[in-house]
Amino acid sequence: MAEGFNMTSKRHKKRLFGTNGVRGIVGSDMNPELVYFIGAALGTLRKGSIAVGRDTRTSGETLIHALKAGLLATGCDVTDCGVLPTPALQYLIKEDFDGGAMITASHNPPEYNGVKIIEADGTEMGDDETIELEQHIFNRSFDLQPWDHVGQDASAPDIIKRYISAVVRQFPPDIGKGMLVVVDPGSGPACRTTPEILKRLGCRVMTVNGIMDGHFPNRMPEPTPEGLAALSALVVSSRAAFGVAHDGDADRAVFVDENGDYIEENKEFAIVAQHVCQRQKGVIVTPVSTSQIVEAVASSEGCSVVYTKVGSIYVARTMHSLIKQGDNVVFGGEGNGGLIFPDHQFCRDGGMTAASMVAILAATGDRLSDLVKRLPKRFMIKEKQKTLHAQKMMAKIEQSFTKDQIDRTDGLKITRGSTWALIRASGTEPLIRIIVESEKRTDAEVFFKEISGIISQESGK
Ligand code: MG
Repeated sequence: MAEGFNMTSKRHKKRLFGTNGVRGIVGSDMNPELVYFIGAALGTLRKGSIAVGRDTRTSGETLIHALKAGLLATGCDVTDCGVLPTPALQYLIKEDFDGGAMITASHNPPEYNGVKIIEADGTEMGDDETIELEQHIFNRSFDLQPWDHVGQDASAPDIIKRYISAVVRQFPPDIGKGMLVVVDPGSGPACRTTPEILKRLGCRVMTVNGIMDGHFPNRMPEPTPEGLAALSALVVSSRAAFGVAHDGDADRAVFVDENGDYIEENKEFAIVAQHVCQRQKGVIVTPVSTSQIVEAVASSEGCSVVYTKVGSIYVARTMHSLIKQGDNVVFGGEGNGGLIFPDHQFCRDGGMTAASMVAILAATGDRLSDLVKRLPKRFMIKEKQKTLHAQKMMAKIEQSFTKDQIDRTDGLKITRGSTWALIRASGTEPLIRIIVESEKRTDAEVFFKEISGIISQESGK
């Protein structure tokens, strides 16, 4: 969320941009003026050929013009790829451009919009570069060009086909032959990609919310189990193999099985991880917040897990650096349906995830519900707890668990036997996020009560 637009900031910390770009409500925090500044700052830092795109939000057209104005004014040549998923733009940039930016607010409601900055390798801009970009915005220091050096604007509405073909090429021809799949792109940009990808893999495809519409008339851009009732109903009535739904910019994919039952995203991650690990031995990268189910299936297939801070950019960059060190990184992602396939590209890709599920069912011959049932059992509690002194509270919690194993990759991860807890102070709100997971429900509940008790007791002082 854009946290006020203070031009005099000198703090060396990201202020406008969060973990996945800058976002805000259109007409207040998020407006063409801010997006022009972002475009001009990006054009000042990154010269050359820049690709831009947007999701289906009603404000997207206005904001992309502002973004392009900033880029062109600072001398960049701009290719407008139109409406497309974030991973499609990321793939195109990795292949052909010097950088780019996506106008999207991902899973946020329709009144939001935002900007994600993408580097030449297709990954989102890292923290240090983002701080530098913000400094240019706060100081309004832009490398504006004279009349004979402003950039050229080109439009490439069909360039999206290259992304679709790139995903299809990752799989054997006709791997989905005879399989019926229902796709819910949620009126977002995946209307242009996922149904086509699955058809090209040989599937028969039906859609719900398959017409692009920035008002999101039938469900919000966040694919929640409640929002996917129409998808589930159509999967059951059409006897489809599964249903797949995307968030507002289709970097994530979530699934319902053949019975229309929603698959919790950590289980989705584990099913895909298991399939990958059965074929390639190496390392899986994921944040410390991911369920232990993923590590359990990975280690049973002879693979290992490397944990990162929470945020897909940390996963992608860790995958990159491990590969540079010579590690065989086979897969990565988050427990929210954002999966990264390194043979394809180093970012979350919802279309690629949907196609992978086709390949998994084709290879195993199993029903999706059976794959879910066979996963190791874990019980997870996720809660937020209000407190006015989140940082002080973190120190207090740390002191209370000195006998347990503590990891400080992100917040505090406390492990006690087969139970673990992740405790993180929110950077923007007065609250602490708690995740507890165990093989037994009672163990998770007891550990959760212990942590929550410390917070309530201290907050009451
Ligand atoms: Mg997203």
